[in-house]
Amino acid sequence: MKKIAILGCTGSIGKQTLDVVRSDPDGFCIVGLSCGSDSAALIAYAREFGCKTVGIYDKSKFSELRSALPDAEVFCGDDALTCVAADADTVVVAVVGMIGLTAVMSALRSGKTVALANKESLVAGGAVVTEQLKHGGAILPVDSEHSAVWQCLQGERSFRRIILTASGGPFYFMPEKELAAVTPERAVAHPNWKMGRKISVDSATMMNKGLEIIEAKWLFDTDKIDYVIHPQSIVHSMVEFEDGSVKAQACTPDMRMPIQYALTYPDHVERKFEPMRLPLELKFLPPDDIKFPAPRLAKQAIAQGGLTATVLNAANEAAVRLFLERKIGFTDIIDIVERELESEPYCGEVTERGIFETHNRVYDKIYLKYRGR
Ligand code: MG
Repeated sequence: MKKIAILGCTGSIGKQTLDVVRSDPDGFCIVGLSCGSDSAALIAYAREFGCKTVGIYDKSKFSELRSALPDAEVFCGDDALTCVAADADTVVVAVVGMIGLTAVMSALRSGKTVALANKESLVAGGAVVTEQLKHGGAILPVDSEHSAVWQCLQGERSFRRIILTASGGPFYFMPEKELAAVTPERAVAHPNWKMGRKISVDSATMMNKGLEIIEAKWLFDTDKIDYVIHPQSIVHSMVEFEDGSVKAQACTPDMRMPIQYALTYPDHVERKFEPMRLPLELKFLPPDDIKFPAPRLAKQAIAQGGLTATVLNAANEAAVRLFLERKIGFTDIIDIVERELESEPYCGEVTERGIFETHNRVYDKIYLKYRGR
């Protein structure tokens, strides 16, 4: 039986991971659960799965958990992320934001397998995260695109390039002049995937694809990464090999597929699924880097190296928050990121501390500048 800890168990990926575990009670057991502040959900899950180690980031919820779960060990604050993973074979890192970097570093330092659903850790800190693999741990992708690439690479020793697919988000076909008027409500309504608010906005600006390009660079050690628009989200990505052969991984869009594969790798284990309706007419369209420049900025950040991707991520995170708080418009998000990348060359030392310092400095600078609007 595989022992699983889920960091961020009350978010979208966390809940779907619990669904996967629920479907195979003999294959998995939950040994650790943590979340940010949703104590009611955490208590319910800990009871349902008989989990004896729980953590909550919000310290004010500590005593509530303590009395609701008298048999469990309860952690709070920063310990919530690291201590609940102690007994796990696989740590599912499904927290949103830079806090994921701390969690991933800690799990890898103790040689654990990380099922990674947190984007920021590899985007902002890819160099320091991958360095921790020397302790014998592993990073297994949970994101559907990276899981697809990973599945295509099974049994292969080399490849020519990765072709990520992108749904295009809800506004790919919208005329460019209408984009500026997009509201937060429209931006978070994604046609194919059920996701959190931050990633839904990233998907709408195509920055999600930009972040995924940077993640793919670290996961598969290459900068040969392209992407195509595929509105149906059936083909989750492709890999082209030296002889011109292209492998694609496809399935009905459901995050529980890649989540389960990360937990059962190298096996494809039986699960209930909605079958693909064949024959299918698959559509692929070229990227539009003029209307959606975010993937181009991400590639630029990879080429510049150093802390450039850390800056891109921090600027985007601050700008998305400002957009959701209605302080800036939809197209301002990527404009702010682009201006930030141009304003200062970031070639500081790439250390865990340097990454956090740069992230906080850029995030605060941008957030404070526009917050009062
Ligand atoms: Mg994705």
